[in-house]
Amino acid sequence: MKKILIIHTGGTISMKENKQTGTVDREDDQPLQELSAMIPAFVTIEDMVLFQLPSPHIGPEQMLKLGKTIHEKLAAEDFDGIVITHGTDTLEETSYFLDLYLQTRKPVIVTGAMRSSNELGSDGLYNLVTAIRVACCDEAQDKGVLVVMNDEIHTAKNVTKTSTSNVATFQSPQYGPIGITTKSNVFFHHKLTAHESYPIQNIQKNVSLVKAYAGMDGLIFDALRHNKIDGLVVEALGQGNLPPETIDAIKNMINEGIPVLLVSRCYQGVVQSTYAYQGGGRHLKDIGVIFVNGLTGPKARIKLMIALEMTNTPSELAPMFEF
Ligand code: ASP
Repeated sequence: MKKILIIHTGGTISMKENKQTGTVDREDDQPLQELSAMIPAFVTIEDMVLFQLPSPHIGPEQMLKLGKTIHEKLAAEDFDGIVITHGTDTLEETSYFLDLYLQTRKPVIVTGAMRSSNELGSDGLYNLVTAIRVACCDEAQDKGVLVVMNDEIHTAKNVTKTSTSNVATFQSPQYGPIGITTKSNVFFHHKLTAHESYPIQNIQKNVSLVKAYAGMDGLIFDALRHNKIDGLVVEALGQGNLPPETIDAIKNMINEGIPVLLVSRCYQGVVQSTYAYQGGGRHLKDIGVIFVNGLTGPKARIKLMIALEMTNTPSELAPMFEF
C-alpha cells in the first residue's frame, strides 16, 4: 500500500462555480476533500490545505514555503510521493521552482484543473486521481517534478500553459510529454538527460521579465535600472536579437552589475549568437548578455532568482544557464 501526501494550494481545482452568476471563486470548504472517497483503493492518502489561493496570488514566497513544507513532511513521515494541487495560471512556475529546489528522489506531481469542481465536464477530480496514480508509480521516481494533466505527464522544465481555457492546455512545445496515462496504466516513454537542484534558504531577489517588440527602445530597461532590480530576463526576437535602440540601456545595466539573461519570444528553437549587426545575438553576447536555452522567460526568471541567492558574478551565473 503506497502512502501519498496531497498538498492543496488553491486554484480552479479547489473552486466552485456560482450557478447564478457563472463566476468561479474560492469556497470555505475544500471541494477535493469531500471527494476523497473516489481515490483509488491501493493508496493511503493524507492531505493538507497549505494555501487556498488563486495561482496569480502565488509568488516566490509561497513557492519556497511549499518547498520547505515538502521537505519537512518527507523528513517526518515515510510518504511514497507527493501530489500538489495548484491553479493553472502559474502552475508551471511553481513546478519549475520545486524542480530546482527539492532534494528528493520521490515522485512529486503537480496537477490542476481548467474547470472548477461543480462545473460540467470538471477535470479536477480526474486529474487528481491520475496524479495520485503517477505518484504511486515506481518509474516516476528520480524524474524531478512532474506535471500531470489531461492524461499526459510533462516535466516541470518543459511544460507550459498554451490555451486559456482548453483542458488540453498543458503542453511541452518542442519536447512533448514524457509519458501518458490510460484508464489502467501509466507509461513513461522518454528519459530525462539531466537534473539540477539548488538548496537555497531564501528567495528575495528582484528579477524582472520583459518581452522585446519591433521598435523597442531603452525606456523599460532604464526604468528597471533606476529601480535597482537584481537581474533581468529578456524575451528577445528570433534567435536572440534586439532592436538597436535598446543596446545602450542594456550596456548600462550590465555595467552596473545587473545580470541580463536572454531567451527567445519564439516558443520553439534555441537562442544563439548568429547575427553580428547592432543588436544581433553576437553583439549582445559580446556586451555580456547571458544566453539561456531550453527555458521560457518565466522559468528563466525563476531560475535566475534562485541563482542570484548564490552568486551574481556573471562568470559563475553563465554556466548555470548553459543548455
Ligand atoms: N485562474 C486560475 C488559477 O490559476 C486558473 C486555474 O486554476 O485553472 O488559479
